[in-house]
Amino acid sequence: MKQKTILPGQTIGILGGGQLGRMMAISAKQMGYRIAVLDPVDDCPCAQVADVAIVADYDDPEGAKKMAACADVVTYEFENVAVQTVDYLQEHSYLPQGGHLLEITKDRLNEKAAIREAGLPVVPYMPVRTQDELKAAIDEIGFPSVLKTTQGGYDGKGQYVLNSEEDLQEALPYVGKTPFELEKWLPFEKEISVIVVRSTAGETSVFPVAENIHRHNILHHTLVPARISESLRIEATEHALHLAEALELVGTLAVEMFVGTDGKVYVNETAPRPHNSGHFSINACETSQFEQHIRAICGLPLSSTQLLKPVIMINILGEHVQPVLDKIALLSEAHLHLYGKDEAKTGRKMGHLTILGETVQEAIERAEKLGIWKI
Ligand code: ADP
Ligand code: MG
Repeated sequence: MKQKTILPGQTIGILGGGQLGRMMAISAKQMGYRIAVLDPVDDCPCAQVADVAIVADYDDPEGAKKMAACADVVTYEFENVAVQTVDYLQEHSYLPQGGHLLEITKDRLNEKAAIREAGLPVVPYMPVRTQDELKAAIDEIGFPSVLKTTQGGYDGKGQYVLNSEEDLQEALPYVGKTPFELEKWLPFEKEISVIVVRSTAGETSVFPVAENIHRHNILHHTLVPARISESLRIEATEHALHLAEALELVGTLAVEMFVGTDGKVYVNETAPRPHNSGHFSINACETSQFEQHIRAICGLPLSSTQLLKPVIMINILGEHVQPVLDKIALLSEAHLHLYGKDEAKTGRKMGHLTILGETVQEAIERAEKLGIWKI
């Protein structure tokens, strides 16, 4: 595919209209681009800031056609875009990211195989597509372990933590019907992530390593710089850069990793798009992950990702919206981002707060002072 330079004034098409699409659009609009978004939901977060909203299912050929008719370049904000839509847009529009990374990252087994092929460490795992494979996997990997659906899981959905045979009961009815993988449970010190961006011209840039704290499997907060040694920081950054090259990345790749209690870094999973753990970059870096993504797909030069100040990013879930609004008078040190979603359901990602400090510890203390979160 011939690479193009997409200039401000031209239209960027985004497949998916959630918060990631919205924040891509906000960055792009600052630079003077126009935005078309395709999403099944009318008035979705991205549609609220877009020039054109195409309301269609992700596999609707008419929707894909409309997108091709108005976009000069197309990108996506999530990994489960329908294959036929991606194929159509590759042929009839300009989708510089291609479809290969979507194919790899939407299936955990494909993804793990690709990470291993790139020579990077992953925790031991085995495919579980049948009852026999489950038995073989338990024999080999044992307990504690975690059974994960290979497709469609996020925020811990589709996962069963297994401490003994008894814990299998819940998952057993699904084994053989839907493909799983069994992973060894890794005792870890920390969860970290690195976001890497590669442009259509092959220029690469990497964001500072983020330390991620999950609650109930949902990202609760991110701290940057991650509180890890310099050698681990270099190792994690090199893993992300290496994976970007090995996968011939165009666009953005988020690489989630574990720092094991054995002191080693393991790659957990990846996402071929901007990521929740990179939201800190909007307020804390010279260039945000969203602006860098737009630069990458439009063929512009990438910009500096330097961290300007230590930072905490805290997710605002459905249950936090009212407490945050109640404390709005106290938010002088916090940058508020809300995504324009109407229903504040428990656990739903509604927005985030970013708080800077002279040190990570100071940022944490400022966040705790709000009295909404115990960090
Ligand atoms: P997703 O984010 O797609 O739901 P993950 O594979 O990232 O799936 O798992 C969610 C969380 O569960 C991780 O962030 C981590 O806290 C925990 N987890 C997942 N796999 C393992 C593992 N093998 N060992 C220890 N913890 C794990
Ligand atoms: Mg994850």
